[in-house]
Amino acid sequence: MARERLYLFDTTLRDGAQTNGVDFTLNDKLTITGLLDDLGIDYVEGGYPGANPTDTELFGKERKLDTTFTAFGMTRRPGRSTANDPGLAALLEAKADAICFVAKSWDYHVRVALETTLEENLASIRDSVRAAKTKGREVLLDCEHFFDGYKANPEFALACAKAAHEEGARWVVLCDTNGGTLPHEVKAIVTEVCKVIPGDHVGIHAHNDTEQAVANSLAAVRAGVRQIQGTLNGLGERCGNANLVSIIPTLKLKPEFAQKFEIGVSDAKLKDLLHVSRALDEMLNRAPNRHAPYVGESAFATKAGIHASAIMKEPKTYEHVAPETVGNRRRLMVSDQAGRSNVLAELDRIGLKVDRNDPRITTLLEVVKEREAIGYAYEAADASFDLLARRTLGKVPSYFDVVQFDVNVEQRYNAIGERVTVSMAVVKVKVGDETLISAGEGSGPVHALDVALRKDLGKYQRYIKGLELTDYRVRILDGGTEAVTRVLIESQDETGEHWTTVGVSPNIIDASFQALMDSIVYKLIKAGATA
Ligand SMILES: [Zn+2]
Repeated sequence: MARERLYLFDTTLRDGAQTNGVDFTLNDKLTITGLLDDLGIDYVEGGYPGANPTDTELFGKERKLDTTFTAFGMTRRPGRSTANDPGLAALLEAKADAICFVAKSWDYHVRVALETTLEENLASIRDSVRAAKTKGREVLLDCEHFFDGYKANPEFALACAKAAHEEGARWVVLCDTNGGTLPHEVKAIVTEVCKVIPGDHVGIHAHNDTEQAVANSLAAVRAGVRQIQGTLNGLGERCGNANLVSIIPTLKLKPEFAQKFEIGVSDAKLKDLLHVSRALDEMLNRAPNRHAPYVGESAFATKAGIHASAIMKEPKTYEHVAPETVGNRRRLMVSDQAGRSNVLAELDRIGLKVDRNDPRITTLLEVVKEREAIGYAYEAADASFDLLARRTLGKVPSYFDVVQFDVNVEQRYNAIGERVTVSMAVVKVKVGDETLISAGEGSGPVHALDVALRKDLGKYQRYIKGLELTDYRVRILDGGTEAVTRVLIESQDETGEHWTTVGVSPNIIDASFQALMDSIVYKLIKAGATA
């Protein structure tokens, strides 16, 4: 049986950007658009052109994308013509493949918030859809407060949806704007709507105020809609929007949906889901939700005891889907017998040959456990785990020794009278019998330290020439009596290989120093340098 096409619409950059504390830059928006496009999302709603400079700039240029790049905005204002509405004009000018209008569909809101008549609201919908169609755009209409509106006045709510559909809108999207509708209500109301408008022209936009945005979206699909709107990681104001990171694998992996529907995300791309989810967290400098379905660190983690031994024999005993399908992996907790085999697998992966019963494996497990308890994150810092394992197994040459370093931060006036902050670092390194002293200047203390540290490593200098720091992330951890800082540094070399190292200390310079040192030593080992 041919499967029906179900469309995914991402609004991370528009509705998700409504979240407290979220402020995407133009570059952030382009990065996320690229990730979503690559994943196979059908529609990416980039923002609200004309509402702020970032979105205006975003829609100021043509973008070469497979996804339907969508601009969001309001239908024409009541009492104005489409030709005489600057907001609508900005939207029609936007370089977008599609325009998603938002309009009221609850009579109460039309009277109280818009202070206009129901007829004028319908005319505004029709005129706006027509104007965008004339401009050659695909058109969507978000019916704001549709479910509450339908409960209050079903005729009017339906009339709004029908007005857009009859005028040629590709999609009419039913929004649960307050997020309080329950799945059985969504099912009943969507069923009624789909009697009037074909389901392959109807979408669902659910908010998570009763923790059921995903369930509501799926209920709407069962009742006939063929477009789901949502955001990455459920980002969105209040309790968030429907989480596409949970919806996508459910549609792909659960037979009820997989047998009936086809989506734009391929099996191969589904494996990128964890990466896409984490990329958004990184951008927002948020700790990933460990308990997130499918992609969370704990989603496939099993503790010691009978579960762990059963899961090693047959993973299906405790896993509802295979973790690899979404790019995740099985985790058996460190420090028990199962953790031991996990670490052995990791050692095998990095090419360290050790006997299974080597007592140093136990030592390594204990060290990892102790260090993770004080804030080190080896899951995220592959290169630091590699070094820790090699050190525990006695296999890291002592290349050089940093005898001493000194970093200062100075604020002063420069030659043209501007107040500037500059940093200077001096590092004293011992390489064999040679003592080398280097100084470096930087925009900040860590930058200066990095410059000084990598300026002269004597005979090792040639190995680290291509070393580059590509990312630097700081997180303050609540360490009980005192806060500690965790620094993650991502490096890259001339071969294009990336690796991440970690440092933890109450002092940010010290934490950064540890991560910098690990990165350099890792590079030397990788390059095959000998002491
Ligand atoms: Zn919304």
